[in-house]
Amino acid sequence: MNPQEKIKELVELLNKYSQEYYNNDVSLVSDFEYDSLLRELENLEKEYPDYILPNSPTKRVGDFSESELEKIYYKTPMLSLANVFNENELIEFDNRIKKEGFNPKYVCELKIDGIASNANYSSGIFILGSTRGNGVVGENITSNMKTIKSLPQVLSNNLDIELRGEVYMKKSVFNYLNDIRKEKSEELFKNPRNAAGGSLRQLNPKITEERKLDIFNYTIVNPEKYGLHNQYEALKFLEKNGFSVNPNYELCNDINEVIKYIEKWKDTRKELDYETDGVVIKVNDFSMQERIGYTVKSPKWAVAYKFPAIEVETKMLDIVFTVGRTGNITPNAVLEPVMIAGSLVQRATLNNEDFITERDIRIGDYVLVRKAGEIIPEVVRVSFERRSDGLEPFKMIQVCPECHQTLVRAKDEAVHYCLNEECPGRIKAGLVYFASRGCMNIEGLGEKLVEDLFNLGYIKKITDIYGLYKYRMQLENIEGLGEKSVSALLDAIEKSKENSLDKVITSLGIRFVGSKVAKILTKIFFSLDEFLTATYEDYVGIKDIGTSTAKSLVNYFKKNYNLIKELESLGINPIEEAITNEEQIFAGMTIVLTGKLESLTRDEASEIIEKLGGNASTSVSKKTSFVVCGSDAGSKRTKALELGIKIISEDEFLDLVKR
Ligand code: NAD
Repeated sequence: MNPQEKIKELVELLNKYSQEYYNNDVSLVSDFEYDSLLRELENLEKEYPDYILPNSPTKRVGDFSESELEKIYYKTPMLSLANVFNENELIEFDNRIKKEGFNPKYVCELKIDGIASNANYSSGIFILGSTRGNGVVGENITSNMKTIKSLPQVLSNNLDIELRGEVYMKKSVFNYLNDIRKEKSEELFKNPRNAAGGSLRQLNPKITEERKLDIFNYTIVNPEKYGLHNQYEALKFLEKNGFSVNPNYELCNDINEVIKYIEKWKDTRKELDYETDGVVIKVNDFSMQERIGYTVKSPKWAVAYKFPAIEVETKMLDIVFTVGRTGNITPNAVLEPVMIAGSLVQRATLNNEDFITERDIRIGDYVLVRKAGEIIPEVVRVSFERRSDGLEPFKMIQVCPECHQTLVRAKDEAVHYCLNEECPGRIKAGLVYFASRGCMNIEGLGEKLVEDLFNLGYIKKITDIYGLYKYRMQLENIEGLGEKSVSALLDAIEKSKENSLDKVITSLGIRFVGSKVAKILTKIFFSLDEFLTATYEDYVGIKDIGTSTAKSLVNYFKKNYNLIKELESLGINPIEEAITNEEQIFAGMTIVLTGKLESLTRDEASEIIEKLGGNASTSVSKKTSFVVCGSDAGSKRTKALELGIKIISEDEFLDLVKR
C-alpha cells in the first residue's frame, strides 16, 4: 500500500473508532491500539504533508455528531492534549520548549479518565454546563451537570467564571451500579469512563442523578480576570472558591521533578477510587503558555504522559490446557507475543469453559488482554471487528491433557476437574505450589525444574524435595543448573523447614485452604499433630470456616496421615504457641455460646471473646475450652456434658471479662 492510501485507510479507521468512542461511549479497540494507530498516522503525515486529509483526526478534537441536545459554541476552544508515551518523549517535549528560549516550571496533575466538560457561573450561580464536543461546538448538559454533588451550584463569591474539568464516575460507584445491573440482568457498564460518558449525555437528568457522577476542575478560562498568573495559583483559587480540585497536583521545578512525580503515581494511582490514564504536564506560567502557543488540536505548552497500557490487543494462536493441583483444568490462550505494562506476554488465562463460550472466544481471534499488577494476564474479550471467516466455536476438552482420564464438571461449578489423584499434572502442580513464594518459599524450585525432577523420578511427592540432597551430583548436570545454583537450591530447601505452621498448612494445597484460612486455623491448632486428630466438629464451629472447608480438612488429614508424619520426621514440624498477654485472656481458647443471654446479644458476646484473643465457635467438640450457657440451652449443653467440657453461666462469663 502506498503512503497516500495508508493515510486514507488510517484516517477512515480512526474516525470510525472516534465516532463510536465520543458519541456512543463504545470502544471498538483499546486506547493503546487507538493511540498506536494515531501515532502511525502522525508520523506518515509528517513525512508526506501533501497527503494530509482535511478530516484527519490529527487535526481535530474529539468527534461530534448531531444529537437532541442543544449546541453550545465556545469562544475559547476546548482542546485536546498531545500524548507522550515514555520518558524520552517527555524530555523531547521539555527540550522543544527550552529551544524556544524558555526555562519553565511545570505543574503536574493526574489525568482523570472521564469526560471533559465546561461550566459557566454568573454572579456565583451555575448557569450552563456543556460537553467538549469537537472543541468548538459542544452540547448543553446543564440539567445533568446539576446532579453532580461535587459541582457547586451556588458559590460563596459572586463570581462570573467559566471553567473546565473532568466529569468521572468513582470506581466504587461503578462497581455498585454494575452489581445492581447484574442482579436485574441488565447489560453491564464496560468501564467507569464509558459509564460516565453515557450518563452525562442522558436526556433524562433523573437517570444521570442515579449514576452519582463527580467532577474535578482544572482550568479557568481567562484566568487573568482574577489576577492569576499561573496554573498553580489557578488551582489554589479554584479550591478556595469551593470547586472540587484533584488534590494530587504538584509544582515541579524542572523535568526531572516531573519524572519523579510520574514514578510516584505510576503504581499509587491504582489505589485511588477513580481511574487515571496518565499525568498532565503543563507549563506553569500563563504568559509563557501564551508565547509557546497552540496547534489546531492541542496546546504546545502541555502534554499528557500516558501510563503504559494494561490492556492490549493481540492474536490468539491456540488454546492449551493446564492441570492445577486440585485437578482443576484451566484453558490458556497462546498469544502472539505482546508487551503489556512493560512485560512480554505470551500466555493469558481463559479461566474456564463458560468464560470462553460466554465471550465466544475462538482460536484465531484478535483478543484484548489485560494485565494488572502481579495478576496473571487475562483475555478480556474478542475484537469481533477483526474476526476472520471460518473460525470454529470453542469446544471444551473431555479428557485430562496429562493422564487422559475423563474430566468431570460439578453441577454448580464452572470448572472441569481431573479426579485422578495420581495424575502427573496434578502432582507437578502441587509440587510447584508447595515450593512457591507464598508457601514454603523454596527459591529456584519453579515449574521448569519441577517438571525435570519429576520426569527424572527424583520427586514424586512433597517429602521427596527434602531428599534431593542425595542427588547433588545429578542435579549439577541438569541443563541450567550448576554447582552454585544447586547449593543455593539445597540451602533454600533446608531453610524452608523453619516455616511457620500456617505456611506449612497453606503449602499442602488442601482444597479451600489458602493462606487466610490457614492463619485462622493456626490460631486454634498449634501443631501438625493437632490437625491429624481434629474432627469435623472442631473445624466447622470456627468462625469463617464453612462446611466444605471443614470436610476437605478432615479428608485431607485422614488420607495423608503418613505424609504428614514423614514431614514431621524430616524436621518440618512447627509448634506454635498462643500469644498470651494480660489482655488476651482467651488466647488459644475455643468458646461456645449457647442458650439465651440476658445482658448481651450473641454478637456482642462473640465480639468480646474475639477481642480477648479467643475463638467464638458455634459447635461443641473436644477442642472446646468451655461453654457459656444462658437460659433454655439445649443440645450444645447436653453435648458439653457428654464430653465433660466445662460449662459456665452468663454471670461467670461477665465476671471473667470484667463487665
Ligand atoms: P486525551 O484524553 O488524550 O487528553 C485530553 C483530555 O484529557 C482533555 O480534554 C481532558 O478532558 C482530559 N484531562 C483529564 N485530566 C486533565 C487535567 N488534569 N488537565 C487537563 N486535561 C485533563 O484526549 P482526547 O482528545 O480526549 O482523547 C483522545 C484519547 O481518547 C486517545 O488518546 C485515546 O486514548 C482515546 N480514544 C480512544 C478511542 C477508542 O476507540 N478506544 C477512540 C478515540 C479516542
